[in-house]
Amino acid sequence: MTATGEPATATSAPDPGGPPGPSVTVPYPGPRAARIIERMRAVEAAGPRTGADDPPLVVETAAGSTLTDPDGNHFIDLAGSFAAATIGHVHPAVVTAVRDQVGRLSHVSSASMSEVRVAFEEALVAIAPAGLDRVLLGLSGSDANDTAVKLARTLTGRHEVIAFSGGYFGRGSGVIGLNGKARMRAAAGRDADAHFLPYPYPYRWPLGAGDGAGEMALALVRHALEDPASGIGPVAAVVVEPVQGNGGVIIPPDGFLAGLRELCDRHGAVLIFDEVQCGFGRTGRTWAAEHWNVVPDLMTAGKGIGGGLALSAVVGRQAFMAHWSPGTHTSTFMGDAVNLAAGLAAIGVLRDEGLVGRSATVGGRLLEQLRAALADDAHVGEVRGLGLFVGIEIVADRDDRTADPDRTARIRRAAFDRGVLLGSGGYHENVIKLCPPLTIDEGLLDTAIELTIETIRGTP
Ligand code: PLP
Repeated sequence: MTATGEPATATSAPDPGGPPGPSVTVPYPGPRAARIIERMRAVEAAGPRTGADDPPLVVETAAGSTLTDPDGNHFIDLAGSFAAATIGHVHPAVVTAVRDQVGRLSHVSSASMSEVRVAFEEALVAIAPAGLDRVLLGLSGSDANDTAVKLARTLTGRHEVIAFSGGYFGRGSGVIGLNGKARMRAAAGRDADAHFLPYPYPYRWPLGAGDGAGEMALALVRHALEDPASGIGPVAAVVVEPVQGNGGVIIPPDGFLAGLRELCDRHGAVLIFDEVQCGFGRTGRTWAAEHWNVVPDLMTAGKGIGGGLALSAVVGRQAFMAHWSPGTHTSTFMGDAVNLAAGLAAIGVLRDEGLVGRSATVGGRLLEQLRAALADDAHVGEVRGLGLFVGIEIVADRDDRTADPDRTARIRRAAFDRGVLLGSGGYHENVIKLCPPLTIDEGLLDTAIELTIETIRGTP
């Protein structure tokens, strides 16, 4: 039996010419996966897994968009492994680069330098928005955001930060207080470390009709920065995801990011764009903010830029990045040679395989397909997306838009049982998030999406 109580079935025969299709022939967890989960429960602390993802998927091998468990089941990774498998799992170019690098040099202190480190930094600057030409390396998105906010505070000599409802910046103690969901801060026992203003989320805009969300959100930022009666300020930084990811793939209306740029310039606040999830080709542009031609002062990148290895970066203007005196910001593992070789290969793959354009075209088609198939589904409130980054808002009632997190969890588990991994997010945990590898085989994507549509429509 599967986790939802259904008998497991083979959901699609592997295509002999292509990557293996979704196929769960051994009810999950099969005996081998079950043994690993049992061992895990005896040693691993609670925390990393959500209730909805329990029992967790045990992955033995990964290739492209397919994850294979120890019992031979194949799962299609439409969740992109927390949206980080941007160039696909175990990309051959990354494997070669890592093999080549690891035998020569893996770790030296961050005070030393290596050719591969410079090469990665040069490659990142070459694809960064114009004017952002200095790099500080890190290991995770949390780490990069922590660095960016710390830099903004030391640059301005101010402490206060404006962030947005629903935003997510990571779990490090430097940024956990900036997360715009109380649940994401609660575990740290920390109060909010930012002034939260509403992100322009037209589908769930708290101040009236959603079509005015962009202007109203900006008006609130203006009030915070300009009106002493707001009680806010002086502000060191405005930190924002150009497209909110874990918030549920929320795309801001035109003019919002440009308005933030203008307000930050006027008030001497540092504008930080977190492109950890929405960047690196995810939305059909190299960086999401390119959709609106807005360049921040500091940009953070992570997830896919390591090609599957832990790597992150702050990229910023030289005038800002020259601020710290030597030794102010070091760490033992600030982008080690192996991770940097993988990252360099990943940037090459993004460019050479035309993945940014592919994200736009395949993603555009996917959005149309989903909208057409789910237009009359009583439990789908909205389907939105940009590139291969799609959010499906699951509701109990389409008219009053009541979020339905339980149904969302049931859909995800039913899709899992058919070999399709769906991401999740949303202010109310009710958004199905699709962010597959940008390399995904189109036939495989079609198969997985057909199963997803059937599952959404068929889940009670
Ligand atoms: N910023 C954004 C927008 C994210 O989505 C995430 C992770 O989901 C982070 C930062 C944190 O990155 P990491 O999990 O690598 O620390």
